Amino acid sequence: MHDILPEDQPFFGKVYKEADEIAEFYGFQKIDTPVVEDAELFSRGIGLSTDIVEKEMFGLRTKGGDYLALRPEFTAGIARSYIEHGMFNMPQPLKLYSRGPLFRYEHPQAGRYRQFHQVDFEVFGEKSAVIDAQIIQIFYNFLKELKFKNLIIEVNSIGDSQCRPYYKKLLGNYLRSRENSLCADCRRRMRENPLRILDCKEEKCQPVKAQAPQIVDHLCEQCNAHFKSVLEFLDELELPYHLNPYLVRGLDYYTKTVFEIFEDTEEGRQSALAGGGRFDSLVKMLGGKDAPACGGAAGVERIIRAVKERAKTDQIIPAAEKKIFLAQLGELAKRKSLKLFEEFRKARISVAESFGRDSLKTQLRSADRLGSEYALILGQKEALDGTVIIRDMKTGHQETIKMEKVVNEMQKRLRK
Ligand SMILES: [Zn+2]
Ligand SMILES: [Zn+2]
Repeated sequence: MHDILPEDQPFFGKVYKEADEIAEFYGFQKIDTPVVEDAELFSRGIGLSTDIVEKEMFGLRTKGGDYLALRPEFTAGIARSYIEHGMFNMPQPLKLYSRGPLFRYEHPQAGRYRQFHQVDFEVFGEKSAVIDAQIIQIFYNFLKELKFKNLIIEVNSIGDSQCRPYYKKLLGNYLRSRENSLCADCRRRMRENPLRILDCKEEKCQPVKAQAPQIVDHLCEQCNAHFKSVLEFLDELELPYHLNPYLVRGLDYYTKTVFEIFEDTEEGRQSALAGGGRFDSLVKMLGGKDAPACGGAAGVERIIRAVKERAKTDQIIPAAEKKIFLAQLGELAKRKSLKLFEEFRKARISVAESFGRDSLKTQLRSADRLGSEYALILGQKEALDGTVIIRDMKTGHQETIKMEKVVNEMQKRLRK
């Protein structure tokens, strides 16, 4: 877990601002759920034999004996809230948006943290494939706004309760015949969740994967039609996608469409920036009504890391604007400038200061470093006369002005 230091805050601010704008444009309402939930919500929703629940969840026992968990993802908590507050009675589809911290016990590695942040969009109560395509479009646009280039979308369908059990059996049979060629992890997965083997990145498992039966060839009629329809919408939107038959995502609640978005860079492909899919049975599984749904999430730290690597940070992160620096010299001047500073605050003009410093030279150096256009100087004489010196930091030109007129005067100059 890590501190988000002041120098990183503008990056977070930028990512969240883009997400807020996207949410507003596409009609998503913001929701915040607690960071702690009943652990059972995640074991039921995400699945007991998934890595997230089995290895990565932070659990805690309360004094009352309840077993809680820090949320490892957004969807289950939002679905819980959707049920608890009867949101299925509201006009559907209901579009919900969230952002904030999530927690997973990960092995420390570059760009991975145990407390991390995501931006999350979910649509409840709509089964049409147009929503799947729009969710993908939303994350694609979000990344585009953050200046990502060469984005590539990978999509797959993992079927539903009609067709997946049959495919799982088929895959299981195939894998058993190749058991000795699988890595240790996959030999364990084979019994619990054979689909996860398609996710395996181990060199050893690649030849086995390459010959494995593919789920798209075994979808039921309904899933097949849905997937075809999603792809037609993606074509219509002219989104750059390709089919990845190995994409399964590590969560049990997905049905039909799953997707991930990557950036292709010169160093090759990094981990996914965003991903998600359809989860038609989650709400019902958690005790709610039958509410088909689709959504996704984008990893904020991963996005920021890529943005920083692009090294053009100054272009997308505007520096805070402090065009005026207030400098003072002497006890009386310090008192008067403290008051003057408040006058600027009332006028909503941002002013930098260094009240703790006594040397004028040091203060003017600070003004220079901040790139201020003007320094306002209050010395002993000015404090007694009720005046202020306005110094143009570029030309060094100085003039004296009555103190009560200075806010007005600066307002005029900044407008120019
Ligand atoms: Zn493997
Ligand atoms: Zn199906």
